[in-house]
Amino acid sequence: MLAMSPYPWCPCGRGGCRGRTASRLSTGGPATQCLARGAQRRVASSRRCGARGGRGDAAAAHQPRRGCWSSPSHRLGHRIDAPSCSPVQRALLALTLPLETLQLVKGRMLRAIREGLSRQTHAQAKVQMLPTYICSTPDGTEKGDILVVELGQSHVRTLWVTLLGDGNQNPQMRDKTFDLPAGIKQGKGEVLFDFLAQCVSQFLTDIGNPQQHIPLGFVFPFSCRKQQLHKAELISWSKGFSCSDVEGKDVVQLLQWSINKQEIYHVEVVALINNTVGTMMTCSMEGKPCEVALIVGSGTNSCFMAPAHLVEMAEETSGRMCVNTEWGCFGDDGTLSDILTSYDEHVDHESSNPGERRFEKLVGSLYLGEIVRHVLIALTVEKALFVGNDVTVLKTKDALKTQQVLEIISKEDGVIEARRALEALGLQPSERDCCRVQQICRAVVSRAAALSAAGLAAILSHMCQTRELELLVVNVGVEGDLYQGYSRFKEILQGVTAMLSPECVATFLPSVDSTGRGAAIVTAVALRLAAKREEVDQMLAPLRLSRADLQHVQALMRQEMELGLGRESNANASLRMLPTYVRNTPDGTEQGEFLALDLGGTNFRVLLVRVAQDICITSEIYVIPTAIMHGTGEALFDHIIDCMRDFQLNQNLKEQVLPLGFTFSFPCQQLGLNKAVLLSWTKGFSASGCVGRDVVQMLQEAAQRKNFGLNVVAVVNDTVGTMMSCGYDDPKCEIGLIVGTGTNACYMEEMRNVGTVEGEQGRMCINMEWGAFGDNGCLDNIFTDFDLMVDKTTINVGRQRFEKLISGMYLGEIVRHILLAMVDKQLLFCGKPCPQLQTRDIFKTKFLSTIEIDGLALRQVQTILQNLEIQASFEDSTLVREVCETVSLRAAQLCGAGMAAVVEKMRDNRGLDRMAVTVGADGTLYKMHPRFSQRLQQTLEDLAPNCTVTFLRSEDGSGKGAALVAAVACRGAEPEEQPLLPPTPQ
Ligand code: ADP
Repeated sequence: MLAMSPYPWCPCGRGGCRGRTASRLSTGGPATQCLARGAQRRVASSRRCGARGGRGDAAAAHQPRRGCWSSPSHRLGHRIDAPSCSPVQRALLALTLPLETLQLVKGRMLRAIREGLSRQTHAQAKVQMLPTYICSTPDGTEKGDILVVELGQSHVRTLWVTLLGDGNQNPQMRDKTFDLPAGIKQGKGEVLFDFLAQCVSQFLTDIGNPQQHIPLGFVFPFSCRKQQLHKAELISWSKGFSCSDVEGKDVVQLLQWSINKQEIYHVEVVALINNTVGTMMTCSMEGKPCEVALIVGSGTNSCFMAPAHLVEMAEETSGRMCVNTEWGCFGDDGTLSDILTSYDEHVDHESSNPGERRFEKLVGSLYLGEIVRHVLIALTVEKALFVGNDVTVLKTKDALKTQQVLEIISKEDGVIEARRALEALGLQPSERDCCRVQQICRAVVSRAAALSAAGLAAILSHMCQTRELELLVVNVGVEGDLYQGYSRFKEILQGVTAMLSPECVATFLPSVDSTGRGAAIVTAVALRLAAKREEVDQMLAPLRLSRADLQHVQALMRQEMELGLGRESNANASLRMLPTYVRNTPDGTEQGEFLALDLGGTNFRVLLVRVAQDICITSEIYVIPTAIMHGTGEALFDHIIDCMRDFQLNQNLKEQVLPLGFTFSFPCQQLGLNKAVLLSWTKGFSASGCVGRDVVQMLQEAAQRKNFGLNVVAVVNDTVGTMMSCGYDDPKCEIGLIVGTGTNACYMEEMRNVGTVEGEQGRMCINMEWGAFGDNGCLDNIFTDFDLMVDKTTINVGRQRFEKLISGMYLGEIVRHILLAMVDKQLLFCGKPCPQLQTRDIFKTKFLSTIEIDGLALRQVQTILQNLEIQASFEDSTLVREVCETVSLRAAQLCGAGMAAVVEKMRDNRGLDRMAVTVGADGTLYKMHPRFSQRLQQTLEDLAPNCTVTFLRSEDGSGKGAALVAAVACRGAEPEEQPLLPPTPQ
């Protein structure tokens, strides 16, 4: 950390400032006035000459700026007008940025970052935030031989890098450097690329020309607009290059063409990178990814891993992507004008690109010597330096090299270095001149470090915010002569970054051979990801249904519906198409008090429903213990009566025998509105002696045993209840859908089509029991191995096949099996065995909902997995999310295909060209999953374009709906009818 201290270098020459703290000085007399006024949190320089004024480099104070800063409007400016300041002191103050100024710079950089990332503002943004299409940092497993070609200022370097999968600790490297021929930088583009290819060819010959397929990483340190990892258009040349016919072209392709011309067909250009990305990649260690990189060398740049959906210029939406900030151009729109000094303006004017790369010209070592030179010129004009010397030499551009500046400030005997440098220019400096030159060098370099820190702090805060973290712990790779050659630069950079972004803990890692090694690693990561992608796609392919698959499912559903409705064919259909004896939906005239029972969902409930103008419901939830679910039928129905008695007591219903609607959500053959024979148990129930018996009768027998008054008017399925409860609000509601623990649907069918019930007139609600769709094998080709694994562990193996692809009871399990297979194939969690995932039902369907919430930070996915004691990397989390999305998308699409069959059949029944209908929908999966309902509707729109289908969410369908069926029945509208077919107990 930086030492906080008042101004170290007070050069007022009056000696009044020595060793005093800011607070003490602020009350001081005239001699201390100058420093007291300027003494604030400043990042400045000097330790040695600063013996006059203090100890540290960066200083902090908390008062507002006053004194030398003539007015508040100059808070950020550099007009130092106060007569009490000496010229040197004014120059130093102008170069010194208080912490609050740095905070402002950080804020502006943050804004610039956001503008660069956003599609809307990207075009005008000066900080371009270029997508790199690098979506992962190395995980240390990268392995294999990689060829690298690196285009430098005056040379081309080729490397052969062998990665050993050892955490990238000890890559084996061979390299060769070729000088760039004279004039090639300004010649034809083709010549340059042909030369690069010749270097590759020559190098391969030197190392024995291995003939296997060789991936190549191309280090091309110019500003490029990338469209993919291996597709990058050169935006513009810089650094003295101006080859024709290259700007606006894909440089990867240009290199590949030249390589092919050399007939080295086995070399494939896989990735293009710049040095910033290389730095980030080389600093990544196994288990410790480096997600930010900073270059502070002759120029400056940075990159970091951003959430991909925020990098709007790229198409990627999931995971993270490395963004190349190109922050050297920060300030080109005038954003930094209030911190630029007249010295900076001179440097800019004399540069080859005036008005451009303003941030770089404050930070890059290419410019620091020049800034110092201009400060010296100004001070000589004011006669504050080199009095009596001929200073013409200072007017020569680059007279003072940055290297000399760094030596002056970094060496123990820096003052001697200063003298040496000045004397080499033909000057005869006094001791005091040397001391002051050292102070100025220090101020210039310290400012560069502090500004780099402000930029870096903006990146870190951005990462912390977008990841929704309270504390960001991150590794920052750093490369460049300023950072590596000058320890005070390092200290200021680290200390000021910590001060400006206290919510982030950054570990700085110096990068070694970032470009060559980095390119090899990027290439290897790209290959690893491509191989992994192929395997993942292969594994998930059977779960991804095409439009044709869905149309096929729709057609099969329609076919099974017809079979189920037919008197003769019913027995062979997988859809039972059960008549419900519900002939009407509510008409709004229903009134009275009703009881309702709801059995078959997650909970068992007893309800009191008052139907008047409004519907008022009071209910209580009761548990059905597992022992009772799996016990005898008698015990089950006795338990239900016990719960009803308890409810009656709690509700003060005394001995009233209210009409009762019984929502019994298991497949039943209904023989009348209040007569329903259980065909099979589902959803984990298996009470003995019930299948093949009338459930209303069993309930009545239990009531008799318990001496309890009961009047069961209607027994309904929850799907019917859902339709009825929504029908109370919307008369168009003629379909019910449930997607919760299980799934089912019902709809109003024409009586003439219901072969299993006598009568031709009107309609009847048909409980499709569509969960069983496919039980006759018709869906076998869409079942995957994962579905079969899930099915195998259920209590009704081979049954409810459609439901097992769609509903809440199974989706989590499907995901779990896929994840296990992925671990097995080393695609997840680094292939480490994951015993927790072996536990059945540990991966809940509700996790799918949470994981798939739009914009949910992947950290939260990690947290969910952590709660399952699974340590997931960022990449793992992305993959887990993809698996969840695949499974839930398939469920929604299958549900949509089934629903398309239903609505199209209704439309055909009614002979309509177009039909509008409402579906009452219920079930936690339908309601809680963030995308399920939308994807279901999209599929339906696609497969049944002539139907306008509105979905209405049912509120308490099974309770309110059952009461409404009872109410409609009490209206006397439901005639008793007998089915033609006897029930078929299973
Ligand atoms: P039921 O169908 O039994 O009446 P629900 O409609 O409440 O009950 O559905 C319960 C099912 O919903 C459970 O199997 C569970 O897996 C699933 N589930 C629970 N919470 C969520 C959620 N947030 N997102 C998706 N599914 C959920």
